[in-house]
Formats: sequence, structure tokens, C-alpha cells
Amino acid sequence: MKLEDFTIEKIKEGLLKKEFSATELTKAYLEKIEKEDKKIRAFLTLSPEIALKQAKEIDERIFLKKELPSLAGVPCAIKDNILVEGIKCTAGSKILENYIAPYDATVIRKLKEAGVVILGKTNLDEFAMGSSNENSAFFTTKNPLDLEKVPGGSSGGSAAAVAANFCVFALGSDTGGSIRQPASFCGIVGLKPTYGAVSRYGLIAFASSLDQIGPMTKNVRDCKAVFEVIRGKDEMDSTSLEMKEVNNLRIRSLEEIKIGLPKEYFLEGMDPEVEEKIKKAIKKYEEMGAKILEISLPHTPYALACYYIIATSEASANLARYDGIKYGFSIIKNEQRTIDNLLEVYFKSRGQGFGEEVRRRIMLGTFSLSIGYYDAYYLRAARVRSLIIKDFEEAFKKVDLILAPTSPTLPFKLGEKIDDPLKMYLSDVFTVSVNLAGLPAISIPVGKVGNLSVGLQIIGKPFEEEKIFDLATFYELSTSN
Ligand code: GLN
Repeated sequence: MKLEDFTIEKIKEGLLKKEFSATELTKAYLEKIEKEDKKIRAFLTLSPEIALKQAKEIDERIFLKKELPSLAGVPCAIKDNILVEGIKCTAGSKILENYIAPYDATVIRKLKEAGVVILGKTNLDEFAMGSSNENSAFFTTKNPLDLEKVPGGSSGGSAAAVAANFCVFALGSDTGGSIRQPASFCGIVGLKPTYGAVSRYGLIAFASSLDQIGPMTKNVRDCKAVFEVIRGKDEMDSTSLEMKEVNNLRIRSLEEIKIGLPKEYFLEGMDPEVEEKIKKAIKKYEEMGAKILEISLPHTPYALACYYIIATSEASANLARYDGIKYGFSIIKNEQRTIDNLLEVYFKSRGQGFGEEVRRRIMLGTFSLSIGYYDAYYLRAARVRSLIIKDFEEAFKKVDLILAPTSPTLPFKLGEKIDDPLKMYLSDVFTVSVNLAGLPAISIPVGKVGNLSVGLQIIGKPFEEEKIFDLATFYELSTSN
């Protein structure tokens, strides 16, 4: 079995033609992970019992000639901030080291109904805060394209697992770029859906007005197939919405669409190799008949600052629940004495349970929300956010879709930016605006520099994922023959 060649479609074909059983396929993936993940370290937890049980159910359906659901037997991996009932969910943090998920996230329930095989949980920056996976409390995942480089973050474990062919697809979460940037770094496809398109129920919250779960895959078709399964309104998440009719959103010919290039995304600071590949991809669209226009998103220079105030503010509120009593790591269990002071329990449990970056962000967020500073920081950031949203609304009056680089740099070396948080934050310069505006965006691979990959970002109007998939497919088809 050549696992590199498997896509969702090929698995379905193989199962129906009885070239292999779901159990054989699952075992092949588990063996590969067992052998090769020692050097990449994409997984935090493996779930062979669950995987083999799911595979057996699919084999029984095949035996009984029952119809197969859309993702039957497809091996996948799940970022470890998404709850899968009965297995550990750490969010990459020591504070949740022993936390066993008591229920399935809505996306997991939907994936299970669609017949997937869950192989395990993937590594991430602690509470999804980071751009390199180096903030994981456990270990750092490596980029399968170059083991000296980071896989990106925070969904770096998921991206690496797909790129290393440890699974056919993975789920990630994206608050400011955490699906798209690691997808770009590992040479795969990653979609951050429209805010509200996918339920967040069972996703460990980082910044609730920005977080979205999305698929990470080897090609656009698989990305769409997984998105079809996980999207939709969910009564457990009041911010989720049903998508409107999608048939009128298809792009049948590139000649009928206009693509915008935001001039603010092509300024100084980008790696020349990245710029070259992005420009080449844009040229390709032009050659295929698309009309390319320069547009302006004038508030782009404020996006990073705005994001890091809003995201940290929301995080400081969301992470208040980890108090050493309700969840996970607690100083009470560690110290051999009676602690009679509640404050000490909070301080010490949080102080020892959270890593440095998480503590930094809780402090930043608490500061931005505090009396006397709220107006100057949080409120101002919220206003800037409205301006960023307006920028996109204006732009989308002129164009159907927007193209931009996903990341300004190629994957960097392990350790290169870890001591300089501001430098690390710059990794998100092209991705955070999309989250602030709640828009859908995909990253697709558009070229190699040595072994490393460059990702192109396609940004669409809210709930117009369909158009994004079509535009991405045009590129994919043009390079596949
Ligand atoms: N790298 C960004 C951050 O550190 C984005 C994280 C994310 O999307 N989860 O906040």
C-alpha cells in the first residue's frame, strides 16, 4: 500500500473494490506512524483502539453491502484542542496534561457519523498560541519537508501529520492563521472557514470571536469533502450558521471573475523567494483568463496590533477557568501539605501549569481589559477591527476574491524566533485580518524553494467557500498535468 497516494476518493474506491479493508488500511497507517513519527513527532496521543474499532465498523458495513458514508474508512488526525470523547485533550498544555475529554466536539460527532477513522491527537502550541509549535508544553514537532525547520503553528502537528502521510486529512483550528500558516509551511492545503460556518462546540477556546476549526488536506477536493461534513449550524454553538445556497457560487470560467491583489500585502519585508512564487501563481491565474486588479486594504498595518489586543483579551477571559480546581493540573495534588489559602492554589497552579507564552498573553489581555486601560486598548482595537472589516467590504465591491501570500517567510529554523515574541508575531501578518473580519480563506501550495513550500492565500466573502475551492482547483488542475 502506498500511503502517499491516498486521497479520500481513492480510499473509497479501494474499499469498494476490496483492494484492502478499512482495518488493513488503519493498521498500515498506525505502523507508519509507529516507525516514522519518532523523528517528526506530530502526535501527542495515538488512539489505535478507537481507530481499529471504527475501521471494523466500516468493514462490517462493506460486508453487509450497506451504503458507505462520505468519509468511510478515511484515517485522520485531530488537533489536540478538539475534544474526542474518552481520550486525552491537552491543548498542548501541562495544565490539561491529564484531562480526558468527556464528550465529542460537534465536528468529531459529524466526522464519526461520516465514517472516519481517528488515529490520534496532534501537537500544537499551548492553547493554540504560537506560530511554530515550539510553545507546546511537551515537545516540538518538526517540518517533514526539512527536519531542521518548524512546521508552523499552532496546528503544526496536524500539518506535519498530513505532509508526512500519517493520515489523509487532519483538523486544525485557526484564530489568527494557525491552519493556513502551517499548511503553507508543510506544503499542504488548509482552510479557515467563515466565522460561524463550523461549530466551535468542543473546541478548547482561545479567542472566541476569532477561533474556527477547519480541514487540512493534501488537495483541494479533500478539503472540500471534509468541510462539507463538518460545516453547518449547531444548536450547541449560538454563533454557528447554516450556509446559504451554494450552487450560484460556483466559478465556471476564470474569465467571469475579478481577483484583487491588496497592495499592502506586497510591501517590504517579504522573503524574495516567497514573493517570486506568489507572483508566478498570480501570473498563472492571469494567463488562465482571470482579471487581476490592484486593491487597497488601508488598515492592514494595524491588523497585527489589533489582533494581539483582541486575541489576548479574549484569551485572558477564556483561560480564567483553569484555576487548579475545576480542571487538570493542580498544586493541591502536588504539595504534601494542606493548603488553606485559595489564592495560593490559583496562583501556584496557574503559575506552574501555564507556559511562558500563555502567561504573557493572559497578562497582556488582563491589562488591556482593566479599568483605566480598556478605552485606550481593547475599545480602540475593537474600533480598528470594524475598520478592517469595512476595508474588506469595500474591496469585495470591486472583486470576487483576493489573493495574498500566506506567510511572509519560508519555514524558519527551530529555535530561530522563540526568544523574540514580536518577531514570531510577524509570522501572522498576512493571516490575522481574515480572522478579524470573519472571512473564509484557504492556503494552497504554489511552489517549492529547495525542499520547502510556499503557500498562496485565497480570501473570499463570508460563506463563499465554494468560490475559494473553485479558484484553488483551477490552480491545482493547471499544475497537475
Ligand atoms: N500565531 C497566532 C497566535 O499566536 C495565531 C494562532 C492561531 O491561529 N491559533 O496567536
